[in-house]
Amino acid sequence: MGPHLGNNLINLNIYEQVRQAIEECGLTLQDLIDQEEEPGLGNGGLGRLAACYMDSMATLDIPAIGYGIRYEFGIFDQEIRDGWQVEITDKWLRYGNPWEIARTEAAVEVGLGGRTESYSGEQGRYRVRWIPDRVVRGVPYDTPILGYKTNTANTMRLWKAEAPESFNFEAFNVGDYYGAVNQKTYSENITKVLYPNDEPIQGKQLRLEQQYFFVSCSLQDMIRIHLLRNSSLDNFHEKFTAQLNDTHPTVGVAELMRLLIDVHGMEWDQAWNITQNTFAYTNHTLLPEALEKWQVELFGSLLPRHLEIIYEINQRFLDTVRERYPGDNGKLSRLSLIDDSGSKYVRMAHLACVGSMAINGVAALHTELLKANVLHEFYELWPEKFTNKTNGVTPRRWMVLSNPRLTYLISSKIGEDWIKNLYELRKLEEFVNDAGFREAWRQVKREIKGDLAQKIQQCCNITVNPDTLFDVQVKRIHEYKRQHLNVLHIITLYNRIKRDPNIDIVPRTFVFGGKAAPSYFMAKLIIKLINSVGAVVNNDSDVRDRLKVAFIPDYNVTMSQKVYPAADLSEQISTAGKEASGTGNMKFSMNGALTIGTLDGANVEIREEVGADNFFLFGLKTEAVDEMKSQGYNPLDHYNSNPTLKEVIDQIASGYFSNGDADLFRPLVDSLLYNDQYMLLADYQPYIDCQDRVSQTYRDYDHWTRMSILNVARMGKFSSDRSIQDYCRDIWKVQAVPVELQDYVQAKASFKVDPQQFAGSRPQ
Ligand SMILES: *Cc1c(COP(=O)(O)O)cnc(C)c1O
Repeated sequence: MGPHLGNNLINLNIYEQVRQAIEECGLTLQDLIDQEEEPGLGNGGLGRLAACYMDSMATLDIPAIGYGIRYEFGIFDQEIRDGWQVEITDKWLRYGNPWEIARTEAAVEVGLGGRTESYSGEQGRYRVRWIPDRVVRGVPYDTPILGYKTNTANTMRLWKAEAPESFNFEAFNVGDYYGAVNQKTYSENITKVLYPNDEPIQGKQLRLEQQYFFVSCSLQDMIRIHLLRNSSLDNFHEKFTAQLNDTHPTVGVAELMRLLIDVHGMEWDQAWNITQNTFAYTNHTLLPEALEKWQVELFGSLLPRHLEIIYEINQRFLDTVRERYPGDNGKLSRLSLIDDSGSKYVRMAHLACVGSMAINGVAALHTELLKANVLHEFYELWPEKFTNKTNGVTPRRWMVLSNPRLTYLISSKIGEDWIKNLYELRKLEEFVNDAGFREAWRQVKREIKGDLAQKIQQCCNITVNPDTLFDVQVKRIHEYKRQHLNVLHIITLYNRIKRDPNIDIVPRTFVFGGKAAPSYFMAKLIIKLINSVGAVVNNDSDVRDRLKVAFIPDYNVTMSQKVYPAADLSEQISTAGKEASGTGNMKFSMNGALTIGTLDGANVEIREEVGADNFFLFGLKTEAVDEMKSQGYNPLDHYNSNPTLKEVIDQIASGYFSNGDADLFRPLVDSLLYNDQYMLLADYQPYIDCQDRVSQTYRDYDHWTRMSILNVARMGKFSSDRSIQDYCRDIWKVQAVPVELQDYVQAKASFKVDPQQFAGSRPQ
């Protein structure tokens, strides 16, 4: 979510008043805002997307609850020691959390493990009950999510796992004190710590326990709220949509079936109709290794009833496939919810597709690739389920809060309506020929770069010059995102200087930031490489401060708010076809950075919007990547035929940047020379050539300024308000429910139940 205080003041439209009031107390609001601990409850773009969507739903008066896990330890804090990443536990709750309210009265119980048994119910009906061998209690903690200049306050409801008192007490009674306490520890472990892997999955039992715990708590909560106002669950799907943010909560499909059938006594067909019309699935990845699957054995030992339900869903689903494609056994095994080739797995993306009314990708290219490859056969079955919903980010946090100077300049020209309707930024185009406006624009950027320079001095002890080109790549560290391609460019520039120390080059400051999954060896080695190259470049007297490399430690939302506004150049250089959308690309461009990027994810649409002339495009396109691979891509061909590339790789390999240690970066070098899954060597020369165009353009800084203004003016599409409107129209079929304050006060007086309990989630 990022810290709440500044954002809440903006959305309440009292930022200025509070700033003045605090100054009268002899403090500064910024100092106060800087005290707030960041709730680091996600890994990267996916969680941050949900946070932007919460802001937009509240702003658009869409009643919504954002469900999640209240991790005691969020994403680790990153320190850099000797150039390496070190992970420190994130004790964000150390001093308490003033934004949350525990709703113990709405706690629920969740079973785990055990077995199932059948029995005959009323009228001799076949029924099943699950006898779990553990029960944990889920306690909701609510944080209000305020809309911008509206009365709506939605709820983010995060679940904490505890031991159920009764369970604990029973063990105590039979004298098993140790067992009772042990049980408590075991229960609390479920929400103890966030798994820090961004893309690939790990297959650990505790992770599945987290997923099921959070999903069961949330569905029980939705059913409770529904039954406050409805006499049965028959119309549940007309009142609730559960939008699955990737496959992580997909076990919810089986859980809702279980709740409807086993707990609420519904028949299969009706339960399935409700379930299928409740869920919608957003896919976030094209990387095959990141497609979530669970070993059937593990799944069945933790969730025996859910495995039965999944088998039943699968059987009925495959019957329809069989009918449509008679005799096509390959089709059956490819579409099955169970991967049966070797050891058995539950395929979560398949369950999500079968259990949902709608399936979407997060950028136009991504959705097309889903339909053509990853989910092609589901697309053939149900083309009408597939739509695109291009991601967006909230301009409240990513412009107004993080870039007050630019906000003020923009609003001084076109008023403040753009904050709620980002397409209004178009009006800035009018001022692109105004030399005074361009000068003011440059002045703003210069001041923000000065702030970041100070920050870099503090946190990295590196002196950088705010008048250099700030070339920035901040995002999770991953081979497909290609931070190391950026490094190859830095070394190339360094070698040009070494060859001719008086060469006239555009001075650059390279800024990196991002966390590597603790178990991702190659990503950690990339961090070490960045810092090693930095140590050489930053301290070489021939360079004369024309190149600086800074790796900002502990990249998170708080830090990112200082970084995006200060960038001149945004690095969006993933291998084409690998980045589903990206949202960092949008935040940079909204703040006046120009993009150097591949035709990947939402870069495609950003380029369409800002115009090809205002975007630095390079590299292989998706089809060329695939084609090259199928024809037997050999990275050595590029290495052998390109002397500047060869020199760069040889330097890394020889230990030039590692005090002569030729072993240190060997795994990285070997991976590039003998595999290069992400095609760095194929894209190297086009990238260098494009970077040279960037430098040439920057020399004409007035022209650069025009491009920067046009980038901002044309970013309307990438507001998360637009994304949410698309979801509302095409998938959720909901409209705004404005909150009238007077009505609300009256409602509170006449309600039997506390309306606070479901504030923001009231169906019409
Ligand atoms: C926006 C954001 C991301 C996502 O960045 P991408 O460049 O799209 O991968 C990751 N982390 C933080 C802190 C962000 O704010």
